[in-house]
Amino acid sequence: MKQLAIFVFALLLAPLNSGAQEAKPLPTADERYKADILLVVAHPDDEGAATPYLARAIYDEHKRVAVVFTTRGGSGGNDYSREHGAALADIREQEARQACAALGITNVWFLDGKDTASQNLLNSLANWGHGANLEALVRIVRLTRPEVILSWLPGIFIGENHGDHQASGVLATEAFDMAGDPVAFPAQVAGASKRLEPYLENLTPWQPKKIYFFSDASDEKQFAGKGPAYSVKEISPSQRKPYWRIALDAAKPHLTQFPGEIHMLSKLSEEQLNAMMSDPTHMWWSEPMTLIFGKATVPTQPWAAIFPDVEPRQKEPPVTVEVGGGPVYETQTLSLALGDPWNFYWKFRYAHKLTDLPVARIPEIAVKEGSIVVVPLIITRKPGGAREITVKAAVPSGWKVISGEGKLLLPDEEINYLRVEFQSPQIADNELKGRQPDSIVVSGISGDKTIGQAELRVLLRSSGLPQ
Ligand SMILES: [Zn+2]
Repeated sequence: MKQLAIFVFALLLAPLNSGAQEAKPLPTADERYKADILLVVAHPDDEGAATPYLARAIYDEHKRVAVVFTTRGGSGGNDYSREHGAALADIREQEARQACAALGITNVWFLDGKDTASQNLLNSLANWGHGANLEALVRIVRLTRPEVILSWLPGIFIGENHGDHQASGVLATEAFDMAGDPVAFPAQVAGASKRLEPYLENLTPWQPKKIYFFSDASDEKQFAGKGPAYSVKEISPSQRKPYWRIALDAAKPHLTQFPGEIHMLSKLSEEQLNAMMSDPTHMWWSEPMTLIFGKATVPTQPWAAIFPDVEPRQKEPPVTVEVGGGPVYETQTLSLALGDPWNFYWKFRYAHKLTDLPVARIPEIAVKEGSIVVVPLIITRKPGGAREITVKAAVPSGWKVISGEGKLLLPDEEINYLRVEFQSPQIADNELKGRQPDSIVVSGISGDKTIGQAELRVLLRSSGLPQ
């Protein structure tokens, strides 16, 4: 009886309601691709530099992680099977997807950068197609809306010092600064239209909150205190094993890169693995791992934990680092200083407000013994400055100057580039152990005055990427 009354009442009201329409929800951003951390690295297997921290973030802090590889690793070696070049890139993409999947990371993208074997990030950016790949990375930042970006350190240090690593850090920094700006790549943030459907993307500008870096420098201890430090030996409460152990399993798909190690490790018992990794010379990661603070758009301290809801692991006072190695041509009529890539980084750190980023106190690099070392110079001359200068180099014994020294007549231009080339000595392997860097100093002289000096510390090693 009561139900019938409600039915009759509803029938009576029906004509009155016919004018009111239910609100139609507009589509939202795709939540499946939202990330807390976006890792931006250069090569398939580079993710391994961060996996002990990512394991903690994923399993114990319940963070969502997405990864961008800026290249597919086609110039790398293959120590497992015969494929090389483009075919190796196809394999390495799969290895990287499997490695990420081992940590539960399935949102993985590859940009179009060509794996470039040099220590100069400018070679990498040129060979990649800087603009197109930056646009693609900004798109992924807007799609994944990360709170935090992690990437390779943009800087030059003795170590692997891979130009691709540095270039991925440069791209990550640029994307951090551009993704929130609606006038940067505006077609990405324009509302999609029914007509001409394929053009406008309907993304939203997105400003990540923090950016951190890690480095391929030989001496990682130099970065202690430059950001939060995370133990790689700590036991994951949820996985009940150390973070390094989880990271080790995630590295196993990279068979083309280190098959010998993977084969050897898979034969060891847990006890043997533990014993091996407790020896710092065998441990793949530094303990603790420092993530170098870049900058933040929220109040924080460089050494504070990455996510504010997590207790800081280590509190250290901030370290002030002087920004060295830069030219002074803004103020001098005539000047000589170290040119690109050092000159680029000097400007880059200011342009992107990364002036606390670690910098080698004296510019440094490591190269293969017996190889040619180039000291790139930027020589500036303001109107009215003398046109004739002398370039002189001072080298340790065993080194030879090949070209670039002598008297020069500067054109009527403000900025001039010059390269001074050196032949480094050939040194036997047994004499390279414990070797310290050699110092090369190039001076510019005008009349009886020094207009500037460029010093480069060069560590000779048995192998290394071309400069
Ligand atoms: Zn790499």
